[in-house]
Amino acid sequence: MTAIAILTEKAEGEHRVAMTPTNVSRFAKLGIAVLVESGAGRAAGIPDEAFVAQGAEIVPRADALARADVLAAVRAPEPADLQGLRAGTRLIGGLARYADPARIQGYAALGIEAMALELLPRTTRAQSMDILSSQANLAGYHAVVRAATELNRCLPMMTTAAGTIPAAKAFVMGVGVAGLQAIATARRLGAVVSATDVRPETREQIVSLGAKPVFEEIRDGDMVTAAAGGYAGEMSDGYRQRQAELVSNHIGTQDIVVTTALIPGRPAPRLVSDAQIAAMKPGSVIVDLAVENGGNVEGSVLGQVAERHGVLIVGLANGAARLAFDASNLFARNCYNFIEAFWDKSEKALKMPADDQLIEAVLLTQGGRVVHPRFSPAPAA
Ligand code: NAD
Repeated sequence: MTAIAILTEKAEGEHRVAMTPTNVSRFAKLGIAVLVESGAGRAAGIPDEAFVAQGAEIVPRADALARADVLAAVRAPEPADLQGLRAGTRLIGGLARYADPARIQGYAALGIEAMALELLPRTTRAQSMDILSSQANLAGYHAVVRAATELNRCLPMMTTAAGTIPAAKAFVMGVGVAGLQAIATARRLGAVVSATDVRPETREQIVSLGAKPVFEEIRDGDMVTAAAGGYAGEMSDGYRQRQAELVSNHIGTQDIVVTTALIPGRPAPRLVSDAQIAAMKPGSVIVDLAVENGGNVEGSVLGQVAERHGVLIVGLANGAARLAFDASNLFARNCYNFIEAFWDKSEKALKMPADDQLIEAVLLTQGGRVVHPRFSPAPAA
């Protein structure tokens, strides 16, 4: 019987787990056994008994490694921690987030098939497996909740016997999955919300969420790198300057700024400078969700709250892990959907053809080699 195994995540601050009880029963219906390292769900608030109640087997780490056909992981495990996996075992999960070529080489040396689910294309077929979206959605929510707790004001307008408190103003920069959820959350909490992006199509999405678009028109020559697959490209200096002027005037009036802007394969674009922070009101809060990719905000520090000109800058690292229970459920469902798509029900076996568009996109290592073009060593000249 095919077995999927889950280990305790070892990365610091990582509270999520790649399997949850609801998903154990889904795997069981396919005929796949689930092995859970004892204590793997504890940090996400899931005791061993909850896994057992749905049919999982709790095992020591070494047994999970020895018996796994598939190992699911939230974050890339170190190859040294995977000794005992059989050659050909599939490792699936968030393996490309901090892509480390040496680690990927280590997976090749183990003879396993490592698959990075962040590399799935943004297509309709892959939507239900998309770990970037499921986790970014929660991070966007958490960014606003965090800003609200740091802010020395309340978000909704309040009419009290002692006077009226006006609603706080929140500005979201970067309207991808995280940004859209940040807008929706700030609106639910009663703030007056505005947002910006470089992709013109987001204007309509911003309006549909009841927020105000703040846009610098894109002119010929503004985009420096090609944008593919719905992602943003890098912008010209001219655009950046015009956007900076527009944003400077706007953020000076805001209580909360949430930045989420990313450009695939490049450092995060710098959107807020020290001079712009100086123009904000003391006590305002900026949450930089791009801090792990270099940050959108000058002075933001990974995992810390920095203070500049009386403004708090939260360098929010791994926002989804703060909501480990829900984040794990969504992550585990993404993993289930990925496996289920390649499960041959009649033969009760995983069939993952190398020429399938999704497998091609995610497969890092196979047959002892790094096979993904993004991570393969350059051929010798
Ligand atoms: P992302 O995390 O790569 O970037 C976040 C946002 O930052 C993007 O909206 C981007 O345009 C914006 N940005 C980049 N540079 C900027 C700048 N200088 N100023 C302001 N904003 C800037 O984005 P994402 O959340 O991964 O979404 C990327 C795309 O993928 C979107 O088009 C989204 O709709 C699409 N998507 C599609 C699917 C699907 O069809 N399966 C699933 C998820 C996302």
